[in-house]
Amino acid sequence: MRLLLKLIIFTVLLSFSFHGKSTEVLEIKINTDTTLTSFTFISKKHGYEANNVFISEKSRAIVKIEGGKIAVHKNGTTQLFNEYVLLKRKNWGAQFSIIAKGFNSSDIFPDNLLIKIENNHLTLINIVYIDHYVAGVVEAEAGSKQNNEYYKLQSVICRTYALSNLRRHEEEKFNLCNQVHCQVYRGIPRYNFSITKSTYATKGLVLVDSTNKLITATFHSNCGGQTANSEDVWTYSLDYLRSVCDTFCTDQHHASWNAEIPKEEWLNYFKNQYNYPIENTSMRNLLLTNRINNRKDIIADTFHIRAKDIRKDWDLKSAYFDISNNTNSVFLSGFGFGHGVGLCQEGAMKMSQQNISYKDILNHYFKNTLIKRLDQIDL
Ligand SMILES: [Zn+2]
Ligand SMILES: [Zn+2]
Repeated sequence: MRLLLKLIIFTVLLSFSFHGKSTEVLEIKINTDTTLTSFTFISKKHGYEANNVFISEKSRAIVKIEGGKIAVHKNGTTQLFNEYVLLKRKNWGAQFSIIAKGFNSSDIFPDNLLIKIENNHLTLINIVYIDHYVAGVVEAEAGSKQNNEYYKLQSVICRTYALSNLRRHEEEKFNLCNQVHCQVYRGIPRYNFSITKSTYATKGLVLVDSTNKLITATFHSNCGGQTANSEDVWTYSLDYLRSVCDTFCTDQHHASWNAEIPKEEWLNYFKNQYNYPIENTSMRNLLLTNRINNRKDIIADTFHIRAKDIRKDWDLKSAYFDISNNTNSVFLSGFGFGHGVGLCQEGAMKMSQQNISYKDILNHYFKNTLIKRLDQIDL
C-alpha cells in the first residue's frame, strides 16, 4: 500500500512538476546541440504517451519543428504542440533513447521527456526520479569497476551536489545540465547495474555541515597525497573543505605527472604576467628550483603567485608540483589530478577496497560534516 501511494505521488510529480523544487524529481537538460530541430524518440521499455500520441515499447516517433510548433510523427499521423510536449511514461521503469547529434545509441534515459521549443530550436529535458539520475551520474563520474561501498559514497556526494545546485540553471528553467558544468549524466548505468542498488542503499542520504546545510560536495580524481583548502583554489573558505593528508592515493593511476617547459618561455611568462624580476638571480632561482610543500600557494613570498593560476595558464594536471631545471628546460614534477578540493576519488576507492565504510571515508575527506536523511534537514 505504501509503495502504491509512493508511485501515485511520483506520478503526480512527474505529470505536473515542470521546473519544480522537488527533491524527488529533477529536470535535467540532456541535449548539448543547441541547434537541434528534429530527433527520433525510441521507447525502449514500456510505452510513452502525449495527448493522443502513443509510442508503445520498441517503437519510435519522429519529433520536428514544423511551422513554429512541435510536430510528433507516429504511424503516419502527426500531432502538433505549441511551446512544449511532455512524453509521459506509461509505467514505472519506462526508458527511452534518442537518435540525434550528441546522443549515443547506448544512452538510455529513464522516466519522462519534456520537449520545449525555444528560439526555433528544441530543448530536451529529462524529468527524472532523483535516484535514477544519481545512479547514472555515479557511473559517468566513477566508472563501472568500483565496489559497492565506493558507489554508496559517490551516490551520497552526487545526490548532495544535485540538491544543493537545483537553481544552477534557474533562468533557463531546468535544474541541472548533463555536462561537467553540473554533473555528467548520460542516462542510467550502462555497464554496471549494481550501481543502482548502491544508490538505493543510500536513498535520501545527504551530507550536511555543522549548521545542517547541504555541503558543496566537491570531488576530484587524485589529490597527490594532500587535498587542498577551498580558499586556495576558489575564493571562499569552508570549514568542511580542509586540506587533509591522504596516504591512500599516492600509488594510484593519477598520483603523479611530469612536464617539461622551455626555460625562457617559463621565465618570460612570469615576467609578462606578474612583472616578476627574472633578472634578479635569487628571485629567478625561485622559479627554477622550488618545492611547493603542502600545496603552498606562493612561489616567492613577495609575489603572491597562485599555483592554481599557473595550472590554468599552462594546462597542468594539478596545482601541486615541484620545480627543477637544467640548461634549457624547466621540469615540473606534479602530484595528483584535478583541483584537489574535497573527496579524492582514487584515495576513496583504495579506502573502500580496504573495507573502510563509506561513512568513514566521507568523514575523512569532508571534515565536520554529518550524513543525514533529507527529511531531517530544512532545504
Ligand atoms: Zn550546468
Ligand atoms: Zn588523494
